[in-house]
This record gives sequence, C-alpha cells and structure tokens, in this order.
Amino acid sequence: MQEYKSCHWLQHGLSFENDHIEMCCLCCHKGGGHLYIKENYNGSDVSWDDILNLKEKFIKENKEGKTDPRCEGCFNLVYRGWADEEPYINYIHFNHWTHCNSDCIYCYTKWDKQAYNSRPHYQAFPMIKELFKRKLFRPGGEVTFAGGEPTMLNEFEDIVNFLLKNGADRITVHSSGIKYSRAIERGIKDKILSVCLSADSGTRDTYKAVKGVDKFDKFWENAKKYSKAQKNIDNKIYVETKFILIPQINTTKVEIDKWLEHTVEAGIKSVVVDIENEYCKKLRTYNIARPQYLVELCNYIIQRAKELDLRIVDYNNFSYLVSDYNLL
Ligand code: SF4
Ligand code: SF4
Repeated sequence: MQEYKSCHWLQHGLSFENDHIEMCCLCCHKGGGHLYIKENYNGSDVSWDDILNLKEKFIKENKEGKTDPRCEGCFNLVYRGWADEEPYINYIHFNHWTHCNSDCIYCYTKWDKQAYNSRPHYQAFPMIKELFKRKLFRPGGEVTFAGGEPTMLNEFEDIVNFLLKNGADRITVHSSGIKYSRAIERGIKDKILSVCLSADSGTRDTYKAVKGVDKFDKFWENAKKYSKAQKNIDNKIYVETKFILIPQINTTKVEIDKWLEHTVEAGIKSVVVDIENEYCKKLRTYNIARPQYLVELCNYIIQRAKELDLRIVDYNNFSYLVSDYNLL
C-alpha cells in the first residue's frame, strides 16, 4: 500500500451541484476546492468511465507528490497508505441549490431568492442507477443531501428509495423539515438514514425572523413524526435538530430553552449547534474576540444539553469556540 497525500472524496467520491459535478463540496479552505468533473452540466451524458479516469489522473499526481493546489489546506487531505484497488464510489453528495421552501436569513440564496429558486436542475438519478448497475458503488461511505432543500428535489424520493433498496448503508439528509418525506421516514425505520432538521429558534416569532416563512408548527409536527419513526430501534440516533446561533437574532437563553424543550418533547435525543459563518468570518478577518455573552451562551447550551441527556454535535464555528475556551 503506497503512502501519499490524498482524500476519500478524490479517491471515491463526487458531488452533484446545481449546474456542475465536482469531486467534493469543500471550498472554505486555502486552496478553495472546486475540482470539477463536469462544468456547466445540464444532465447530458457523462460516463462513469470518464469520471474514474479523471480520478485516476488526480490520484497519480497525488502519488507523485503533485497535489492539486485547490486541495491545499483542506482537512480531508491526509498523508497515509491508500490501497491500490479496483475503482469504486462510496461518497456521494447532493447540493441542488434551487426550489427551497425556506428563506433563511444566513443563506446565500437570500440575495436573490426568486432567481435561485427558479434555477433549473438536471436529473442525477439516471447516473445513480448506472452506478449501481455497473456495481461501482460500494457500501462503507456515506450519501449526503444538503444545500437547497433536498425534499424539494423532484427526484429525491426516488433516489433515496433506490439507495435504501440497493445497499447504501449510510445516508444523511439536512432538511428544513417543512416538507415531510416518506423516503426519509423509511430510511429512519431501516436504520440507514439520519435527518438533521434546521430549527434555529425556539419560538414562532424568531423562527419567522430567521426562516422568512411561517412554518414553525409544521416544522415541529414533522420533527415529531420523524422521531416516532425511530422509536424502538436500539440506541442509535437518527433524528436531530440544529440551531445556528445568529448574534442579535436568536442568541437568548429563552430561545435556547424553548428549542431544547421542543426537541425533548418531540422525543429527539440529539442536537447540532453552530455559529453563523459570515459573522465568524468577520470576527476572524478583523481579529475580534468572540463576545463574552456568546461564549457564555455556548457554555449554557452545553450544560443544558447535558442536563437534558441530549447528545450535542458541534459543527465548525461552534467547535472552534468550544475548543478555544475549553468548554467541554
Ligand atoms: S482534499 Fe479537499 S478539496 Fe481536495 S478533493 Fe479532497 S475534499 Fe475536495
Ligand atoms: S433551507 Fe438551506 S437552502 Fe433553504 S434557505 Fe435555508 S439554508 Fe438556504
């Protein structure tokens, strides 16, 4: 097994984006990512052979120590032994970025919601079926759905049902929770799919302020239904609610308390926390320390989650703050 710098996305993954396909969806590191497989993609033919050949080319360069500069600084890039084996795919990501049923205050689509929501999107399902038909998919990785609202994708139910039926062993969906999905419910019951539901609030008014839509009740109704689907299936957790802290908008203890209360009431055992990215970027750029109230609030969330016996999952900016201030 040869040792060299590479990453699991480059070796075995790809990301279906709104109008292109690339190796991964990572783009916040120094190199900026975007190792394109197909630019300006509109659903026309792209063969798996071409994709695997392109991967081979990148892998060869990695073996020769010529890592693509777009990968520089990416946390997925690791130096280790990589097996030389028949090519296969086991990481697939979907980011369609159109037709969203929410209007989150922190989302880049907020700049021109109408334009983003009317963007066309190609069908990825034919490629997925071909992948399985050619036995190029191998369990052991993960299929993830994120940017844009996955349940609004007209092929979402078909793709998830197909994956569940054909041996995918780990699927993760990030959802606004506004539209209920039978395929998500089935995946939870099958103990294969986890859903992360974006709450960002504990009260209706704040929900409206953050989400731009009045769907607070619908959100919690659906959260309860998903949670019910995971009942009686060992100790694993397949449903969680997420809270992105947005200073001046939802950063009060009342909001946190209500969110955790609703989460517990829905029978959900896990929460995800992060801090709004643009805000954190600004602090980093101007070298400003995080305000004391924010550090205290993060600590409060950790303590309350412990008291309520909730698992806490820290996403990037929350995780940095937690480690900088030794909060755990
Ligand atoms: S190293 Fe990072 S940027 Fe490069 S392909 Fe892997 S995940 Fe993408
Ligand atoms: S649900 Fe996702 S895509 Fe839709 S507005 Fe919110 S962050 Fe953007």
